[in-house]
Amino acid sequence: MSVQVKGVAVSTSHDHIKRTIKETADIVQVVGEVVELKRAGNRLTGLCPFHSEKTPSFTVNPQGRFFHCFGCGEHGDVFDFLMKYHRMEFPEALKNLAQRCGIDLEERQLTEAERLQLRRREILFEANEMATVLYQEFLRHPRLGKLARKYLEQRGVDAGVVERYRLGSAPDPEQAGWHVLTDQLLAKGLPIDALQQVGLSVAKEQGGFYDRFRSRIMFPLVDLTGRVAAFGGRILGEGKPKYMNSPESPVFDKGRLLFGLRQHRDSIRKQRKALVVEGNFDVLLLAVHGIDNVVAPLGTALSRHHIQTLRGYADEAILLFDADSAGLKAAMRSIPLFLAGQMEAKVALLPTGHDPDSFVRAEGAAAVAALMEQARPLAEFAFDNLVRTHGLTLAGKNKIVAVLNELIRDAADPGQRALMTAHFSEKLGVPSSYFTTGRQLTARPAAPETAPESPGLARLPRREKQVIDFLILYPEHFADLREAGLEQVLQEPAAVRFVSRLAQATAILPGRPEQLLDMITDEEERAYVVQILTGGSPHDAEQEEGRSMRDELVRWLGSVAHRRTAANIQEQINRAEGIGNTGLLMELIRRKQEMEQKKRGNSI
Ligand SMILES: [Zn+2]
Repeated sequence: MSVQVKGVAVSTSHDHIKRTIKETADIVQVVGEVVELKRAGNRLTGLCPFHSEKTPSFTVNPQGRFFHCFGCGEHGDVFDFLMKYHRMEFPEALKNLAQRCGIDLEERQLTEAERLQLRRREILFEANEMATVLYQEFLRHPRLGKLARKYLEQRGVDAGVVERYRLGSAPDPEQAGWHVLTDQLLAKGLPIDALQQVGLSVAKEQGGFYDRFRSRIMFPLVDLTGRVAAFGGRILGEGKPKYMNSPESPVFDKGRLLFGLRQHRDSIRKQRKALVVEGNFDVLLLAVHGIDNVVAPLGTALSRHHIQTLRGYADEAILLFDADSAGLKAAMRSIPLFLAGQMEAKVALLPTGHDPDSFVRAEGAAAVAALMEQARPLAEFAFDNLVRTHGLTLAGKNKIVAVLNELIRDAADPGQRALMTAHFSEKLGVPSSYFTTGRQLTARPAAPETAPESPGLARLPRREKQVIDFLILYPEHFADLREAGLEQVLQEPAAVRFVSRLAQATAILPGRPEQLLDMITDEEERAYVVQILTGGSPHDAEQEEGRSMRDELVRWLGSVAHRRTAANIQEQINRAEGIGNTGLLMELIRRKQEMEQKKRGNSI
């Protein structure tokens, strides 16, 4: 009985604190740190951080205190967001929010299991934080930090930068011994298994422990919540490896973290562009010269998660490296990821022999800005580079196809694979079947490709044909028609395929939708597009006419889309009612009312 009473009492205070925090925490601020949100009525919308998309279907409802994605269905409150996005565990999210709200959260307000869970990760962050402070002290130490200070000075890293990025140094074992850091952290009461887990200390075979990082400049790698998740270390002198990172741990996933993002995220968001470089020093030196929308992956190629994270801050990534570097290979591997992540990517090449660090020191910030201006779309860049390397002989084309095939295989999404195949086969002038079958090109002409199975563009129903003809002639109005519900309204496979190609053409080569023709491999469709473009259409390419035609089509699309959306929302309302999800239900009803109001507004 008493246990039960006690149990109830504990869980009540527990629920109470959770409720208080949920009611106080600002979900818009928490989400807004990693997703760019725009106000839309009483909600905010943005690109979903949980799936790849080009147009926002992710919403935050400040009144209801929840987020919901109409694209992938992710849904939850502010706790769920921290847990899903920052991969916190519940007690950690609770503590994080309590701190933000200025609420004193005592550990006794947590259950025993939650306390243990909280400690498990917190102790790892604590170890890294204390190590950061010690590395900073080593760097300032007159004797132990001398070499490191000299090195930083030589590379042009001033005291302000050292301070801002919390740089430190791991001393030379000849001077300080092999376990100076481990000893000091143990003396501060940190358990050895935590030090091992974050990779600061390594067990010796004959017993005892030594420091993993020695004779290195130390870069704390800070996650998006501002905590030190790991370290990168650059050797002082000639030892190997030159760069070394902490091993992965429960608080460090190198496929997600980008060096510099936490410090530079405001600048990146302001400019809508992220500059991606290879090394930590590149990041620092560019920042010294006032270019601070820059990040570096940690010695790995960009991952899907990196791109999705950047997507919350920038529309475009510019990869900056020199033509001979490993960066080129990494850039090739990132092509399918950028395509799948729906993010624009460009490449800016440095003169041979330069890295961003040496270049900005020699030529200054304006020269870097000029390079960024000249940056070229990644897919184009990669292709031209292959042609330069292998040439366009039969043997060269076979090699190029082999390299591209690897890229295409890596692309996660079948749509992206098809797009890349079509794009590259067109550019190389080889049938797309060579990409998929791995057949070698021979001097004899290949067998003709099979015809498409669905009726082509020329035989679309009247309204859909009108839309497609219009888009071929006036691709600049594509965004307007999309806005009006284009993708929702078109139903014929040929029209749907055409619009998705147009969307992809706009995504790969922004502002150059005429490249669409490059992507259409089907002869009949190409012929149709060419015929419309060369004046077979009844509407002349006059701007005025284009606009009035657009307005008419927008009206038509809008009314069809409205009918369908209304039906769709009604269906979702029925479902939400069925499963008793009141939060979602309220949101849907609000959406429905909003739609009806808008419609009334339009028709007046
Ligand atoms: Zn989503």
